[in-house]
Amino acid sequence: ATPTALLAATGRGARLGILVSGVEALERLRKVDTVVLDKTGTLTTGRMSVVAVTAAAGTDAGAAEVLRLAAAVEQGSDHPLARALVTHARRQGNGPLPRPVRFAAVPGSGVSALVDGEEVAVTRPGELHGLPDDLREAVRAAETAGHTAVLVRVADVPRAVISVGDTPRSDAYRAVEHLRRLGLRPVLATGDREATARAIAGQLGITEIHAEVLPEDKAALVATFQKHGSRVAVVGDGVNDAAALAAADLGIAMAGGADAAIGAADVTLVREDIQALPDAVRLARHTLATIR
Ligand code: ADP
Ligand code: MG
Repeated sequence: ATPTALLAATGRGARLGILVSGVEALERLRKVDTVVLDKTGTLTTGRMSVVAVTAAAGTDAGAAEVLRLAAAVEQGSDHPLARALVTHARRQGNGPLPRPVRFAAVPGSGVSALVDGEEVAVTRPGELHGLPDDLREAVRAAETAGHTAVLVRVADVPRAVISVGDTPRSDAYRAVEHLRRLGLRPVLATGDREATARAIAGQLGITEIHAEVLPEDKAALVATFQKHGSRVAVVGDGVNDAAALAAADLGIAMAGGADAAIGAADVTLVREDIQALPDAVRLARHTLATIR
């Protein structure tokens, strides 16, 4: 392999919107057989928006008030879910959001704080059987549609379910199909719940799903695949993907991803589409085939 040919390959990659940390990353990309894909912000646009707010029947505060409390807490978070809630509450124009105090975040779980003297928590729904019927139904409806449902509790009482939508990137279905044609095995890994993951995976033709995966478990999943002889690429955008990106044979970060993700990756896709991924695989294979 001549250095000039390899350099030309990285140059061609750059023109395709594929930034490679070094030529040796191309070599590893060529050998990958399994691609672990993050959901939010990778297969989907990550621009989330609130699609429904369902307040529990028989409570005195309505949906707008519970949304306001939830959004007040989310001001302390930069999760895409948080941004969706804050934007939606501001659009309702009920004045400025109260300032949260004693804000706490549990990665992969949710956030809580005191708002107007009340303890407000916005989290993944957890076990559904303890919820009032209307909230349980709202969670099911959201997840069946591929949306993410978060539960709002005030003073520990379940008060509302907020359904947040995110859409698959327009080229995601074709990109996944393309990966498969290149002989790669696509796997969806997400912190989101099983039903939501299954709905999105179904839209994209992905059959292998790992849901409710905590950040450290994403890296463990990669290690398990490697132990079974797979060469694994991880594609992600979030802080919660950084450990898995580092553990992978090849880490691939999405443009606009968190600094931690880009820092942990060997390749960055600086395009708004996910077709850049099969393009990168083809670039690696083509380059190294012609050099030899
Ligand atoms: P992902 O990036 O796949 O959505 P995360 O690990 O960031 O995974 O989050 C997993 C789950 O934890 C989310 O689906 C949500 O239910 C909950 N969660 C995380 N952060 C927040 C937040 N700021 N507000 C509400 N819920 C959250
Ligand atoms: Mg993500």
